[in-house]
Amino acid sequence: MQLADAIVVGGGPAGSTCAWKLRDAGLDVVVLDRMRFPRTKLCAGWVTPEALDDLELDPEDYPLSFMTFDELHLHWKALSVKLKSKQHSIRRFEFDNFLLCRAGATVLQHKVREIRRDGADFVIDGQFRCKYLVGAGGTACPVYRTLFHDSNPRSGALQTATYEHEFAFDWQCGECHLWFFDDGLPGYAWYVPKANGFINVGLGGMAEQLKRQGGHVREYWRKFVDRLESRGLVRYGHYQPAGYSYYLRGNVDVVSDHNAYIVGDSVGLATRDMCEGIGPAVKSGLLAAQAIITGCDYSLAAINKFSGSGFASKLLEHKFAGSQ
Ligand SMILES: Cc1cc2nc3c(=O)[nH]c(=O)nc-3n(C[C@H](O)[C@H](O)[C@H](O)COP(=O)(O)OP(=O)(O)OC[C@H]3O[C@@H](n4cnc5c(N)ncnc54)[C@H](O)[C@@H]3O)c2cc1C
Repeated sequence: MQLADAIVVGGGPAGSTCAWKLRDAGLDVVVLDRMRFPRTKLCAGWVTPEALDDLELDPEDYPLSFMTFDELHLHWKALSVKLKSKQHSIRRFEFDNFLLCRAGATVLQHKVREIRRDGADFVIDGQFRCKYLVGAGGTACPVYRTLFHDSNPRSGALQTATYEHEFAFDWQCGECHLWFFDDGLPGYAWYVPKANGFINVGLGGMAEQLKRQGGHVREYWRKFVDRLESRGLVRYGHYQPAGYSYYLRGNVDVVSDHNAYIVGDSVGLATRDMCEGIGPAVKSGLLAAQAIITGCDYSLAAINKFSGSGFASKLLEHKFAGSQ
């Protein structure tokens, strides 16, 4: 049986951030992830300056693919606006591995299946024992499923469905574009160039609304990539898109229970307007670590529900998750 003060299930941004702070405080931390890192994580890889601040990461010190955009190009039907807003792009394949290595925890490839309490401890798959357990396993997190789901189910109305592909591409337009509600998609499509000759293109929408419309993100994909070509942005013959689902910030508010904590996508923390999940994942990882280290309460109150503010944000929230 392997012993640790804390076990973090999942090595994405939520888990690695929590592990990093726990290690800093001197705890013995094991991160269990079902994948071997570096691993592919479906994600456009848009990251905010606030998330980098929370990670105490100066772009100058980040040695991997990194780009900065001074504005976002937003498109809705025939309307196009340039929104002044400093944002960044990274490649999750690199970024998550960088953060996990930096955390300094013991990282083991292990798919967690069974979690049980044993006195004040947790026992995982009969192989690992710890006092503190952090669920950072994303949408399918076994800690959420075992200890939090029944009392605190995530809302189906806030579930997203996405479809995307990241690939090596000699892009010519180094700007970030977002197209809202094309062809009735209850969400948006993106074009996010990456440094070192990569690009991520994809789309996402609210799963229940898609179902009500009798559609699937796959059906929007063909039209989207045809448009990328007609707009002169991407011409590519080898798309291999894949899908993933995650939850926007909703009604899950029980996030700790007798030394068990859930963070990031396992809670469902992505913003209600832009579906941004990296920043909230990082922030929740920091807050859970602080609660473990100091004994203070772990609450989501300090985590923003929106990426933007004002009217446009409210409009997007209404369009994405209006039924909630
Ligand atoms: C297509 C798409 C595009 C997106 N674009 C953006 C974007 O541009 N910007 C943004 O901010 N957010 C974006 N998001 C959301 C963002 O990717 C997530 O919110 C973020 O990754 C959440 O981080 P996390 O650490 O909670 O979970 P994850 O990054 O999903 O990490 C969870 C980890 O847990 C591991 N795991 C799962 N089950 C187990 C198990 N049983 N045992 C052990 N390990 C397990 C997984 O292997 C994984 O490594 C996007 C999401 C998608 C799907």
